[in-house]
Amino acid sequence: MIKNPVPWPNGARCAVTFTWDMDSDSILHLAHPNDADTRISTNSMLRYGPMIAVERIINFCEELGVKHTFCVPGWCAERFPEAIRMMVEAGHEVAHHGYLHEGPHEITKDQEAYWTKRGFEAIAEVAGQAPRGYRAPWYKFSKHSLEILIDLGFTYDCSLMGEDVPHLLKCSKGDLVELPGSWQLDDWPHFVHNHDLDYMMPIKSPQDAMAVYMSEFEAMWEHNGFWLNCFHPFCSGQVARAMMVKEMIKQMQAKGDVWIATGEEVAAHLRKVIGDGSHKPYVDELPFYDGKLNEWSEGP
Ligand SMILES: [Zn+2]
Repeated sequence: MIKNPVPWPNGARCAVTFTWDMDSDSILHLAHPNDADTRISTNSMLRYGPMIAVERIINFCEELGVKHTFCVPGWCAERFPEAIRMMVEAGHEVAHHGYLHEGPHEITKDQEAYWTKRGFEAIAEVAGQAPRGYRAPWYKFSKHSLEILIDLGFTYDCSLMGEDVPHLLKCSKGDLVELPGSWQLDDWPHFVHNHDLDYMMPIKSPQDAMAVYMSEFEAMWEHNGFWLNCFHPFCSGQVARAMMVKEMIKQMQAKGDVWIATGEEVAAHLRKVIGDGSHKPYVDELPFYDGKLNEWSEGP
C-alpha cells in the first residue's frame, strides 16, 4: 500500500505523532474582531483549552510516558503563558501556529512574513526556545509559506496532506520536512458545533470518532506508515474525549512496535535516514502553480 515507507527507529512498524492546536479564543477574535468581547459563551468554550484541558492532557501523557506536540498561535502563548510553561516543563514540544490564527493564503506575502515572524518571536519568548515545527492555521498554507519557514529556520511543517509518510517540501530557498496529516484525524469534523464559529457538525460519540482514528492507526501499523492527528484542547481535552485519547494511546502501546514521538523527533529522524543513505524520500516541489491556469483563460 505504501510504496516508500520510512525505516522507523528500532524496527517499529509505524510512527505516531499526537499534535494539539491550542487555538483558544484567537479564532473568535479573528472571526469577529468587532464584538468577540461580548460573545462570552464561545469565549468560555475556547478558553477551556488553556485554562482546564492542557493540564489534564499533560497529566495523562506523564502517566503513559509519552510526549506530544502543541501547536500554539503566538498571541495565545502571550495570553496564556502558564499553559505554555506547563508544556515546556513536562518536556512537550511547543510548535508555531500563526500569531492570531490568521490564514496565510488569505493575506499578502509581506503580511504573512510579518505575522509568522511575530508568532515565532512570541513563542520563543514565552517557551524559552524558538519553535521548530509549524502548522498553518486552518491548514491555509500559502505558496509563500515554505520560503518564509525556511528563512526563519524551521525544521518541519505539518499542514499538508500530499503523502502517507514524512517527506520533503522543496523550493528555490531549500527544503523542509513535511509531516502529513489528514482531515479524518482532525477533531473538528467529528465534534465541533458552534454558531459563532459557523461550524455545525452533528456531534459524534468519542467511541465513534475513535473508530475512525484507530482504523487509520491499524492501516499505518499494517503498512509501515505514519499517523499524525490534529486535536484541540478545548474540544478533545473535555473529559469523555480525553478518556478516549488516553485509551487510544494505551491501545497503540499495547499493539507494540509503535514509535510515539513528537513532530520534532520524527523530523530529525527523517533527516537522519536521508543523511545516512538508508531512505530516499518523496519530494514535493512548491509552489505547485504560480498564477492562474492559462488553459482556463483560453476558453470562451
Ligand atoms: Zn488552529
